[in-house]
Amino acid sequence: MRLGVRRREQRFQDAFLQCASCRKTLFRREFDQGMMVCPNCGHHHRLNAKTRIEYTFDEGSFVEEDTDIQSVDTLSFPDYQSKLDQAISKTGQPDGIVSGMAKLEENPVAVAVSDFGFMGGSMGSLAGEKITRTLERAADKKIPAIVFCASGGARMQEGLLSLMQMAKTTAAVERCRSVGAPFIAVFTDPTMAGVLASYASVADVILSEPRALIGFAGTRVSKQAQVVKIPDDFQTAEWVLRHGFIDRIVPRREMRDTLSDLCRLLGGRK
Ligand SMILES: [Zn+2]
Repeated sequence: MRLGVRRREQRFQDAFLQCASCRKTLFRREFDQGMMVCPNCGHHHRLNAKTRIEYTFDEGSFVEEDTDIQSVDTLSFPDYQSKLDQAISKTGQPDGIVSGMAKLEENPVAVAVSDFGFMGGSMGSLAGEKITRTLERAADKKIPAIVFCASGGARMQEGLLSLMQMAKTTAAVERCRSVGAPFIAVFTDPTMAGVLASYASVADVILSEPRALIGFAGTRVSKQAQVVKIPDDFQTAEWVLRHGFIDRIVPRREMRDTLSDLCRLLGGRK
């Protein structure tokens, strides 16, 4: 009897889920077919790197690179290694960035995708190196670089070494620019702090998913500063678009076509 109840509960969980924003109960199949966007309120649920790559690039075209490097606890920061180990076993990835080569309608692109599920997508030395190598691959091949951002900022457990990644990745953007390789950044929820304040905000084109949180200091810190009254939609994609910080908000379903058009317009080649 008890087993039967558990089975029914499991079947319910397999078939339904609740929207993280409006709390409406959704059919899982419909939710998956809609790229994890709530059909009721339009909330774009966070994606892991693997799913993002599947949704965006030509089927089976992604080839992962930079798999020979790993994070190092250089500062012996308390609990860092155990947190890293937990994140690695949870996500099955060595870091929050997955980088490599892919194709968009058969045009090659250098890509890096951030996974917020890995220690909040924080940028440490490994993430910085992967972003840098992605941009350098684009520059070397003179093809577009596409980076999906999802990060709370720099990884505090790596101290100054993580802050150094801000300068390193920004310098790599300049390398793309010097050879005319376009760099497109896509902000997803959230794109904050050290990532926003470095390579992400100097891209040639900046797109964002709807309602993504985008900012430097968090809303709570900004409110505590009390310099001005904070509007309700402060640091949302819609707010930063109104203030000219990003170029366009693109729903997930249109992202692949938009990126493909941009790559063609800005110089993607076969
Ligand atoms: Zn919803």
